[in-house]
Amino acid sequence: MTDIGTDIGTAPWPNTGTYNWPEGIQCAAALSFDVDGESGILAIDPKYAERLSALAWARYGPKVGVPRILDMLQKKGVKASFFVPGYTAELYPELVKRIHTEGHEIGVHGYIHKKPSDLSDLEEETALVKTCRILKDITGQQPTGYRSPWWDMKVSTPALLARHGIRYDSSLMDDDAPYTLTTESGDLVELPLHWTNDDWEQFAFTVDPPTGSGVIETCEKAFQLWKEEFEGMYHYNRSFVLTMHPEVIGRPARLMMLERLIDHMRSFEGVWLTTCGAIADHHLAISKSAPKTAAVT
Ligand code: ZN
Repeated sequence: MTDIGTDIGTAPWPNTGTYNWPEGIQCAAALSFDVDGESGILAIDPKYAERLSALAWARYGPKVGVPRILDMLQKKGVKASFFVPGYTAELYPELVKRIHTEGHEIGVHGYIHKKPSDLSDLEEETALVKTCRILKDITGQQPTGYRSPWWDMKVSTPALLARHGIRYDSSLMDDDAPYTLTTESGDLVELPLHWTNDDWEQFAFTVDPPTGSGVIETCEKAFQLWKEEFEGMYHYNRSFVLTMHPEVIGRPARLMMLERLIDHMRSFEGVWLTTCGAIADHHLAISKSAPKTAAVT
């Protein structure tokens, strides 16, 4: 029987105390964008390579969503994290270059958005290595952040990531502040997230392939939900990681709502609106100076 606590490490338990943010900071917040593009539907079934309508729905992300998001982030002076599948980067290298040039972080999001649990260990490793190389060829930098396609991780995935120089992952839901995953290949920072803070559940809908929650919510409903979530994280001194998809959040009204959310978060004192990588760096820095926490077994 697999002893999960031993194999992938664990957060300090129970993790209910205050988190040690930089001085003057009460809560960290990160905007993250998973640039699935066409890879999202092609991973479901390669037959969609022949379906122009399905491809067009997905293509809205890199074609319209990302440029519009970048313009908005520049206007607001916010740096964000973009997790890019290798396949998307091969299709849109200039877009990836623009994201990087404008000072945002680029992380790995699989090669063609296949769930790691549907891949062999070797296939998962090949996808990771291939995508790291593609992104490095475009940006000149080795990516060090990872978000798993579908937020799907195998028990063996953290060690694989650590073995290939990834410093942090943002795919798991067992906490709401950064923590350390200890693996046989070294430590990995985990930046937890949640379905509540994902635009997919609020807005994503297609008939073919069927996806999303089946309901397209109003921007006001999503704003209220995310505002409440942020305020909860702020009150409890945690981290607010918002996961979005350019084909979903990039529509005009939704992006205006996101701008309003940024303004709302900034109206609170001591909010650190930054990239996932910067939060991971902070966690690594305080972990080095803190006493080692024993793994729960
Ligand atoms: Zn994705």
